[in-house]
Amino acid sequence: MAANKDRASLFLAKYLAGLDESELEQRLTAKPETPFSRLPRNHKLTDEAVQARWDVLDLDKAAQAQILDPQTKEQMQVYKKNIENFIGTIKLPIGLAGPIRVNGLFAQGDYTIPLATTEAALVASYSRGAQLITRAGGCTAILLNEGVSRAPGFAFNNVHEAGRFSMWVISNQDKFIEVAESTTSHGKLIDMRITVEGNHVYLIFEYSTGDAGGQNMVTIATDSVVAYIIEHTPVQPEYHFVEANLSGDKKASAQSFSSVRGKKVTTEVHLSKELIKKMLHTTPEKMVDYWRMSAMGGVLSGTIGVQGHYANGLAAMYIACGQDAACVAESSVGVTRFEVNKQGGLYAAVTMPNLIVGTVGGGTGLPSQRACLEIMGLAGSGHAQAFAEVTASVALAGELSIIGALAAGHFTRAHKNLARTQK
Ligand code: NAP
Repeated sequence: MAANKDRASLFLAKYLAGLDESELEQRLTAKPETPFSRLPRNHKLTDEAVQARWDVLDLDKAAQAQILDPQTKEQMQVYKKNIENFIGTIKLPIGLAGPIRVNGLFAQGDYTIPLATTEAALVASYSRGAQLITRAGGCTAILLNEGVSRAPGFAFNNVHEAGRFSMWVISNQDKFIEVAESTTSHGKLIDMRITVEGNHVYLIFEYSTGDAGGQNMVTIATDSVVAYIIEHTPVQPEYHFVEANLSGDKKASAQSFSSVRGKKVTTEVHLSKELIKKMLHTTPEKMVDYWRMSAMGGVLSGTIGVQGHYANGLAAMYIACGQDAACVAESSVGVTRFEVNKQGGLYAAVTMPNLIVGTVGGGTGLPSQRACLEIMGLAGSGHAQAFAEVTASVALAGELSIIGALAAGHFTRAHKNLARTQK
């Protein structure tokens, strides 16, 4: 977090010019005496409670009408399990990318992908990559693993106690399965790992979560297991927490490549040099040159994994389809690899170990989010595995399109044309 001294002094001169010492102190000092306008205590979703919140905001009616439009008002009860202090909905444009042909273990056929974004060029780029894949006959996608973890932590007086606790835990796994699975009809406790660090013990409980993303499901199940542990362990911890930050929840972590968080998918495609020339206006060799240099750029910058821009497509797809958008933090870790194949075409592969996706639960049942899942034919039970394979395939489409644009020297032009000129 060090700052260069010359830059720091320029920064201070730019932003603090004209502010004397007392003004600065007044600005930065805590002001507990100053009253503030509280949001109403009632955080429920009733007409009166919603209006009371708008009244606190004291904005003109036009802003309210944008956010609390008639349709939102009419169906607002559907949001009650998804938000607190509700005031309305935000409108995001949704564009279609595709079709993308996926030859998967679960996903089969051509999928049209809804992407919610305000970033120009994103949909066009993913759509181009998707069509490229489809013209080549589709990509192959394979779900390799699945599991969502919660990692409670227990603190003891010393290592000896931590060790005795760990031994007791190991001999009680069957009971933990019984307790965990009594809280859910779809979740299964499939694995448990232990990490001991000094007098701290972390238990990593891993679940399969059916068609749900599963973060709530695993929290509820793990909470019951922790309660059982506290009631029965012969060695009481000094303190404990249901999650001790070892699960990788909502953060990119080095453990991504040694395990799975959500669903792990690998997807690949072979593209002929003719198709690359026709659609991307470049060559396989140029794309591999770019990929190699960008892979080294990633290494030099300390990136976890090697990839161009998974987060672009993932964020747009997660938002459109009612996924937890914050999980883009861990989901956008993975490896992209490009090679020239034996026929002189391009081999491209994307492997993503942390796709936290579901087709039930969370935000997937909300009206427009469900409609987006329906566009792909992937709404509701029985579709989560296919959805994961499609999601990774969309990431592959994005990698092909952006690397194609950079290799052809079209990257800046595309953004300039689409974002800066009237369409
Ligand atoms: P959820 O909506 O809490 O749970 C999924 C529900 O769907 C369960 O009640 C489950 O029943 C039911 N279900 C019905 N059919 C199913 C099927 N075919 N497969 C799986 N479940 C089925 O959602 P979640 O996926 O567990 O959690 C996702 C949400 O958690 C996201 O909105 C995310 O933002 C949030 N989140 C929570 C935490 C946390 O620690 N609590 C952390 C991060 C994110 P059964 O349980 O009886 O099977």
